[in-house]
Amino acid sequence: MQHLTFFRWNVPSDGFRWLETRGGEIASWAGDWKVSTYLTTGQPAGIQFAARQYQPLADYPALFREFADLDPSPDPILRFANRFGWLGVLEFIELPGSSKLGPGERLSLWQDEIRAMRGDIAIWDALQNRDAEALEHHIELLGEGKSAVWVDGQDAGQVGGFHTLFDVQHNLRPEFTAFQDPVRQAKLKLLLDVNARLEKHCAPRMVYFEEIDDLSAVLAPKDLLGALWLQLAMAVSEKTPFRRCPAPGCGKWFVVKPDRARSDKLFCSGACRARWFRDRKAKAHRMYEEGTPVEEIARRLQTEPGTIARWLEVGR
Ligand SMILES: [Zn+2]
Repeated sequence: MQHLTFFRWNVPSDGFRWLETRGGEIASWAGDWKVSTYLTTGQPAGIQFAARQYQPLADYPALFREFADLDPSPDPILRFANRFGWLGVLEFIELPGSSKLGPGERLSLWQDEIRAMRGDIAIWDALQNRDAEALEHHIELLGEGKSAVWVDGQDAGQVGGFHTLFDVQHNLRPEFTAFQDPVRQAKLKLLLDVNARLEKHCAPRMVYFEEIDDLSAVLAPKDLLGALWLQLAMAVSEKTPFRRCPAPGCGKWFVVKPDRARSDKLFCSGACRARWFRDRKAKAHRMYEEGTPVEEIARRLQTEPGTIARWLEVGR
């Protein structure tokens, strides 16, 4: 089954803000709502608001990596939300100066999801790089290999045995019986985290494709959170190579296209490649003016001495 790449999501034009208020999962106040920090537009529920629409999966193929890199504190999360919208796991919240309830999204939910995604990407990177040391860093085996505890940050959770009756019936995990193996343990952790989100935030759907005037079954996100975890799931399953652009002031994650020229694969765009080269030439000139020998400049910039000499237009 294909996954839905043209999934659309709304970003309120007036943006979000944080609000300390009481909230809960049902529309009638149950008396046990607690005060928490919520992301809100400040608008009551059911009000139409001006929004910008975009396609998270088609427009930002590495959005899940950007999400995982977020500093999980209020300001960076707010900036992300104002660019990409809320995750879509909404509760009802009390709005100050209003008798109406509005939709809100908990700060703690954002923080939990960022940490979970970051932990799982770290595992995936370690698995891809066959980095046993990094895997060992994330996983600590306990009790004669019958169970394991995830030790990366706050995300500690016991795994071991069968997760749900569904897993047993569908034989989803017979290959994970050898718990002593950190590689399998890591894959199990990744699988459980991804499945927990896909089950709740994605669904198989029939979609009408206008171009071909036909119906097709796809796996579709229900919200932005579902889109992010679906993106991770597809990247793991398709072994998509990602790279962070090394150009100064960029740092954007991008998908490395296998058919591109070697130098093109290093940068997210031609503009970034040009800037990176300009920046290195400027650095070489600066070092040369400070009296640094060409050989030393070459070593520091990890470039051939001949290339450096060409940049500096000095004879060798
Ligand atoms: Zn770039």
